[in-house]
Amino acid sequence: MSLLPLADAQARVLQQIQPLGTAMVPIGEARGLVLAQTVQARENIPPFANTGMDGFAVRSADTQGATPDSPVDLQIAGTIAAGAVAERPLEAGEAMRIMTGAPIPEGADAVVMVELTAVDSPDSEIVHVNAEVGVGNHVRPAGDDLTEGTEIFTPGIVLSPAHIGMLATLGLQEVEVIARPRVGVFSTGDELITGPEALGPGQIRDSNRPQLLALVAEAGLEPVDLGWLPDDESVIEAALRTGAETCDALLTSGGVSMGDFDFVKTLLRRLGEMNWMQIAIKPAKPFAFGTVLGTPIFGLPGNPVSSAVSFELMARPALLKMMGYENTQRRSVWALADEPLLRAPDGKTHFTRVRVTEANDGAPRIRSAGGQGSHQLSGLALANGLAAIPDGDGVQTGDRVRVIML
Ligand code: AMP
Ligand code: MG
Repeated sequence: MSLLPLADAQARVLQQIQPLGTAMVPIGEARGLVLAQTVQARENIPPFANTGMDGFAVRSADTQGATPDSPVDLQIAGTIAAGAVAERPLEAGEAMRIMTGAPIPEGADAVVMVELTAVDSPDSEIVHVNAEVGVGNHVRPAGDDLTEGTEIFTPGIVLSPAHIGMLATLGLQEVEVIARPRVGVFSTGDELITGPEALGPGQIRDSNRPQLLALVAEAGLEPVDLGWLPDDESVIEAALRTGAETCDALLTSGGVSMGDFDFVKTLLRRLGEMNWMQIAIKPAKPFAFGTVLGTPIFGLPGNPVSSAVSFELMARPALLKMMGYENTQRRSVWALADEPLLRAPDGKTHFTRVRVTEANDGAPRIRSAGGQGSHQLSGLALANGLAAIPDGDGVQTGDRVRVIML
């Protein structure tokens, strides 16, 4: 079987994935989801003219000529706290104490900040104003942020914390978004143990399932733990059926490479419509994608580094597309190799696990993060980037390399 270029493999998967339908979710659960409605300001924001400073609400004209040496004295006609309103309009020759965010009283057109005023005692009825202020000084007019009727958000944006704050300001409790995909993950293999018990002969611990569940959660998707399954055809079949019914997508790891005993492959051939691929990358060459009972399923390779890299390159973009993302790519940067990253020509792009560090001249530097075997999870755990080393002999110190930031 000839090796498939990575971009072709990714395109094959992406073209079969469509965004999920929409759902109403509380705004507190909407971060990272894609907006599916337009959002308009239903009222002015801020809703009323208010003060940006603690001080005194005044008529600008009354402050004319005021200086520290010849202050203007105004009669204190009340206090307005945030959340309160003045009991009556401000008259000429008066000032009202006002706290940040409180509504400007009728009759006032400016605020003198407290630092430019003086009172002789706390219960004094006179305030000395030490500076002249213009109309509108420290006044935040109604609609200064948004005027009623303004369309602020359109469908397609990925909701950030600031968007959530804006939605709350606008009084929205719920918002219409593309639904968050539920992604089921299970692991198979009689060699795996999941508990704390000591390893028996030939046994290893199940690391793929926790790692994949964490990757799913990190991408903003909803992880669904479908558990560990023994190499037993009927158990795996039941789990595949339940998973396909209850999840929007499924991830399996193991059993997609050549010549193994896993039943995952047998079952996917029988229950699913699968596309078995050999991708021109290392690690994560074997990969399968298709649907099982109508649900998209990603058959990731079993080796722990391979399954994670396969998730990054193949599953993550597709699952983000399912969640409505237009940009499904991780951030990537050009970095300079700080040491040789050698490899042998084999027709594949190698994704080398690297440590990316900032340098004073702005160009990040990379070094190998550890062992590069597909079973050597420590190297991946210590890495914060995947360096794409093109087919050939590798790169030398100082060479430029494209790095996917993890
Ligand atoms: P397979 O493709 O099932 O033959 O798996 C390839 C390699 O990955 C084998 O060494 C498996 O033991 C290992 N492997 C498979 N699944 C897991 C898992 N969930 N956790 C850790 N290693 C695994
Ligand atoms: Mg296996």
